[in-house]
Amino acid sequence: MAIPQNFEALTRLLASLPESNPTPVIILAGDGQVQYANPAVERLLMALGFESDNPAQLLPVDAAERLPAIGQEGQAHWEYPVKSNQFACEVVADTGSNFFRLFLSDITERKHDQERLNRLAYYDPLTGLPNRAKLLSELHREIRVADQTAQAFALLVVDLDTFKLVSYTLGHRHGDLLLQQVAHRISSLVDGGCMIARFGEDEFAVVMRNIDRKGALRLSANLVDELTPVYTLAGLLVDAPASIGVVLYPEHGDSASSLIQHANIAIHSAREANSRIAIYDPDHDNYTTRRLTLLTDLRQAINHGDLFMHYQPKIDLSGNRVCGVEALIRWQHADLGSIPADEFIPVAEGTYLIEPLTLWVLNDVLRTWRNRSSALDGIRVSINLSARNLNNSELPDILAGLLNHWKVDPATLVLEITESALMVDPDSAMDVLNRFHQLGVGLSIDDFGTGYSSLAYLSRLPVDELKIDRSFVTRVDSNQGNAAIVRSTVQLAHNLGMRVVAEGVETQAELSILGDCGCDTVQGYLFSKPLAVDQFVDWLEAQDMA
Ligand code: C2E
Ligand code: CA
Ligand code: CA
Repeated sequence: MAIPQNFEALTRLLASLPESNPTPVIILAGDGQVQYANPAVERLLMALGFESDNPAQLLPVDAAERLPAIGQEGQAHWEYPVKSNQFACEVVADTGSNFFRLFLSDITERKHDQERLNRLAYYDPLTGLPNRAKLLSELHREIRVADQTAQAFALLVVDLDTFKLVSYTLGHRHGDLLLQQVAHRISSLVDGGCMIARFGEDEFAVVMRNIDRKGALRLSANLVDELTPVYTLAGLLVDAPASIGVVLYPEHGDSASSLIQHANIAIHSAREANSRIAIYDPDHDNYTTRRLTLLTDLRQAINHGDLFMHYQPKIDLSGNRVCGVEALIRWQHADLGSIPADEFIPVAEGTYLIEPLTLWVLNDVLRTWRNRSSALDGIRVSINLSARNLNNSELPDILAGLLNHWKVDPATLVLEITESALMVDPDSAMDVLNRFHQLGVGLSIDDFGTGYSSLAYLSRLPVDELKIDRSFVTRVDSNQGNAAIVRSTVQLAHNLGMRVVAEGVETQAELSILGDCGCDTVQGYLFSKPLAVDQFVDWLEAQDMA
């Protein structure tokens, strides 16, 4: 052992270290020479099977070079291998002397535990692929690299179209087998240069560096080819086609989450276009985002009074008087302004929201009719129902309750149901319509001529009115075909005992042909646009005076 350079300081240091300390401690001089090692160091050397008792064997080979960086009062943490083990060492400079105390620990077990935890946290146990957390951190890293090197990378999100079906119908075990095979197929196609992850139930991601649009689409096409052939799952042949959404960095997003979100939107587009593969298109995104905004905000609008009703008069041609109105919903959105019914009704119809929306309309209209009974006496009000409303077998009872609550005569109310809504589930529609009819409310078939209902079916419905779709009414005066359709529809409807309404009447010329064809009622901008109830009452009074 070398002669201590600072004998006093070393004595002081040794006095502070009890021999019985179970932690292996080594004292080094500033030049890296070992000044002292406690008995725990000796035991450790033996335990690890070293033949000599030189404590330096437990230190990194370049320990001497590392010391100057620590300085006179500093500290350092080193991790390094010793034989097949992993060591950590806390290095503490002794103030005022040129010695360093080193506290050693064997962290092999801890490292193993950490790796196990790491695998659990960052890898999917089913496929062995990186999971969502790992994908996100890798994307963060790819973004940094791409920014530094000014190179693009692509993210492909692969989504199985029918995974849920396989999993539900064949069981989870088959679902798991399928996912493993998909992982295998993707891995076999994509070389080691990219990262593959499984980041959702049946969602896989491929991150490919240094690739352009064309390359990304080519890779996607290869993936689709690879994933299209049938899978054999425990002896069963199963089809599991995939759709792929493609995004490029930096073109299509500036963060990991926006890239993933946009890739999902691209998948949506691929499905809609039936094309299997789509690259993200911001225009389509605007459309989707707006739909999503409407969907989110509609929930609130129903409860917060942003919806209101307008009423459009219906004119009876025989008596030349207003016989009814159609109630049409309006939405005044705080940020987006007024949103046409044509835009948000289809959004609501795609979800359960159409149910609370319909209840809101029924309630609002009946309340209005109750409170304004004198002005609106004798005027029937039509309300539009959606296909989904006809599936709700409780709606007739709910409506009965509302009519009773607002003390409105059921005969005042007409329900308009589109021809196509009737055809979604004709049997259940028939049942619900019969129950509405028993309540005493009127029923009307809307947008007639646009669906494919059979006359035999229509004749069995308890319907009292048929509304000819606007597309036949427009230019009925100049289009012989339209006129012929209107004429025969009127005949047919009259034979079945129904009145006929022509909607969307805009010109006097259209009106006169419609009259000639035998239409009973007309409705359209020629008479009035849909109006708020107060405006409608004013309009009505002005007609009386005229
Ligand atoms: P719809 O039932 O066919 O209603 C007629 C639509 O034509 C209304 O559009 C009306 O404003 C418009 N219209 C009326 N006269 C004319 C005209 O002379 N020319 C033209 N070009 N258009 C005319 P709106 O109010 O935008 O409603 C669109 C659709 O939204 C309605 O079509 C109906 O299917 C649905 N809708 C509206 N309100 C409700 C509601 O409260 N519940 C449900 N379920 N659907 C509704
Ligand atoms: Ca209607
Ligand atoms: Ca209509």
